[in-house]
Amino acid sequence: MQATNGKALSHTNILTALCDATIFTGDTWVEGHALLIKDGKILDIVTNSKIPADAASTHYPGLLLVPGFIDAQVNGGGNIQLNNTPTAEACQAIAKAHGHYGTTRLLLTCITDRPEVTMQALAATRLARQTCPSILGIHLEGPHLGLERRGVHKADYIRPLSAEDLRLYKPESGEIMLITLAPENVSQETIHLLHKQGAIISLGHTNALPEQIHVAIEAGATGFTHLFNGMGKPSEGGATPADTALKEPGSWCSMIMDGFHVPTEMAKLALKAKPGKIFLVSDAMAPAATDDPQSFGLYDEKIDVANGRCVNHEGKLAGSAITLLDAVRHCVNVVGVPLEETLRMASTYPTEFLGVSDRFGKLLPGYVADVLAFSPELELKSVLI
Ligand SMILES: [Zn+2]
Repeated sequence: MQATNGKALSHTNILTALCDATIFTGDTWVEGHALLIKDGKILDIVTNSKIPADAASTHYPGLLLVPGFIDAQVNGGGNIQLNNTPTAEACQAIAKAHGHYGTTRLLLTCITDRPEVTMQALAATRLARQTCPSILGIHLEGPHLGLERRGVHKADYIRPLSAEDLRLYKPESGEIMLITLAPENVSQETIHLLHKQGAIISLGHTNALPEQIHVAIEAGATGFTHLFNGMGKPSEGGATPADTALKEPGSWCSMIMDGFHVPTEMAKLALKAKPGKIFLVSDAMAPAATDDPQSFGLYDEKIDVANGRCVNHEGKLAGSAITLLDAVRHCVNVVGVPLEETLRMASTYPTEFLGVSDRFGKLLPGYVADVLAFSPELELKSVLI
């Protein structure tokens, strides 16, 4: 994890012009223009000669202005883990910690746990959202996972989805609720009901056969959680859930690009197989988004941070210690993905998967002005939320 000197700034209601930068709109690069912002929204992109006289101008010579990052899987950050501290204050602190590293919107993630922890986490994110609009909602990763591919999720807490759960998994107006589940543990009918009541369904921690995955997609599942990780052994036909995910043209896949979860060659193959449908998540744990990463507790286990990885006593990966900023740098510098495509993977594509691409993920008129300023070497200079 690399520290940044990015400063998180808030909008004012004054007309502001961000000038002299190269702007990435999410579609294309624009030079010699200014980004006009009012009331937290992008008003227009104009040539320097058309900047209104009453605008407060800020100059970003030699820098890149790009859309803020959107992270759909944040278990923790700033040395706080949501499952251990399911309170509104913790939610806000985690969002703030990631904000300093360029993640301007996120889904706080509650992993497999006792039902009361899941309920507390849901209540906490809802309360936190009232004053912290960076929190778009919640990602429930478990407890309805495949037992055999649970990773570090606690086996004792993995369970089928009950009628009571179904009532709980209903997003409020304006809230995103993403549920990672295993199709071998949740029926097609239940997936369909969840989808109909507004939850976004992603398949993960699964050993499902291709037929089971197709059935889940027909029922309304639209994504796959952390492609290649927690995705079972080959079935008799030789296909793993990851193979099936890559062949499902309309669905989305998240991927953890920290250099440990997915080998570089696999990442390259996946991006070639499914262009425009793979987005970055951090799967960040407590030690992410801080200059002082510390060990933390996961259930009754101590998770250590060693060489940038979160590992249990068996050396098993337990989430990551990165932010999306680290993933972006890894994607560009190690995997060799062009910067503009990487930026889409961190901002535009997740908003498309989450159904908020009309407001977030681009720097275009009418969009929320979540803006990051980078040096050409990808040093984060400022964050505007
Ligand atoms: Zn996971």
